[in-house]
Parts: sequence; structure tokens; C-alpha cells
Amino acid sequence: MKKHFSVAIDGPSGAGKSTMAKLLAKELGFLYVDTGAIYRTVGYYMSLIGIQPKDTDGITKYIGDVNIDIDYQADGIQHMILNGQDVTGEIRTPEISHYASCVSAQPVVRAFLLDMQRDLARKHDVIMDGRDIGTVVLPDADVKIFLTASAEERARRRMLELQEKGEKITFEKVLADMKTRDERDSSRAAAPLKCAEDAVLLDTSGLTIEQSVEAIRSIIGGKRE
Ligand code: C5P
Repeated sequence: MKKHFSVAIDGPSGAGKSTMAKLLAKELGFLYVDTGAIYRTVGYYMSLIGIQPKDTDGITKYIGDVNIDIDYQADGIQHMILNGQDVTGEIRTPEISHYASCVSAQPVVRAFLLDMQRDLARKHDVIMDGRDIGTVVLPDADVKIFLTASAEERARRRMLELQEKGEKITFEKVLADMKTRDERDSSRAAAPLKCAEDAVLLDTSGLTIEQSVEAIRSIIGGKRE
């Protein structure tokens, strides 16, 4: 079977991973896989059934009831289907960001989702973004990029995104939530957020979207020649 090409993009929240990955996946004809959306879907399920975000026993008991399908529709959006229902819109709230960050620290959740992610890369050329793609999910990825930016810049970008969706939230709250989440993602024992040894580190502070895309495009281009 032909080995597919894989690009792993990791980094903290708001670094621009999904914006870059989406644009480049379209350009290259690759599948874009947003793994954060998968963790968000698990977090959303636990919140729906009333399990607290850090309740290890509850999460362990009910994780087997989570049935996730990813539906790539013509709109180019990765639709998340949870037990038959499209929850793509519901998973993008600050509350579910918090849930996702807590449930994703549970080894049982990470193990449950590992095969689903690897399977996508076995079957397609992918650009996959997350926290542990280059370190754990696809350690043999053809290209690994660790994307970051200053906390203030990331919070500013995230605030604009939330405001566009009508969420009323202050910059200070977005920045504080983001720092808490980054700290939890980086310090957890199971697959923490960190730069893979063989990843290219790219700091997008002060770069426009076009400049960041160009930088990633040339890193990928260099590996495909
Ligand atoms: O990328 P996004 O902000 O949507 O991810 C939500 C949460 O899911 C992150 O804060 C992180 O805790 C978790 N996550 C993870 N591993 C990934 C992707 C996301 O632990 N590969």
C-alpha cells in the first residue's frame, strides 16, 4: 500500500494551527484533521451526561459510549458527529474548551482516540493539528512543525474569533483561560504539549497569516522534493 504523506502541526491554543492547516490542506489536496475537535467532542459528551471534567472514574466508565464520526462535507468543514448527531457548533464554547483540556489529560481518553487519528493518516495524505501529533500520534510524520506565538497575541486572535460568534468575553478572561489550558496541556503526564525533537519551531508573533502560510509551505515543499 502506498505510504501517505503526513504533516504534523502542534502548538498551544490560538497559535494559528487550524487556520494554517486548513489553508494548506486545501492547496495541497490533503485531508485536514483537527484533533482538538475530537477531544472537544469527548468533552462535550461528558458535559451532556453530567460527568465533571476531572472525574476520572466517570470518564473511564462512559468513554466507551462515545461514538465519533468525522464527516468531511463539501463546505470544507470537519463536521463532528457524536452518536449520530452533528455537534460541530456546540463544541466551540469556552466551557467545552475547559472540558476538552481536562478530559484530554486522561490516559483512557487518549488511548481511545489514538487509532482513529492514526487510521486517518494511514488512509489519506494529511495535515493533522493538535498537541501530540509529532510526538505520539504520528512520530514518523514526514513534516513536523511546532507553531507558537506570544500568549497575548494568541489571546487577541482567540478573542476576535469568539466575538465574531457573538460571545461576550473580555481579553483578560480569554488570556487567563488560555494560560490555564496551556499550563494543563503542557504539564500533564499523558502526551503533554511539547515540541518534538525533530520539529521545526515557528513563532508567528508579528507575522501575517500569509507570511505564516508561506513559511509552512516552504517547509513542506522542502520535504516533498
Ligand atoms: O485545539 P483545541 O483548542 O480545539 O483543543 C482543545 C483541547 O484538546 C486542548 O486544550 C487540549 O487539551 C486537547 N487536545 C489534546 N491533544 C490534541 C489536540 C487537542 O490534548 N492532539
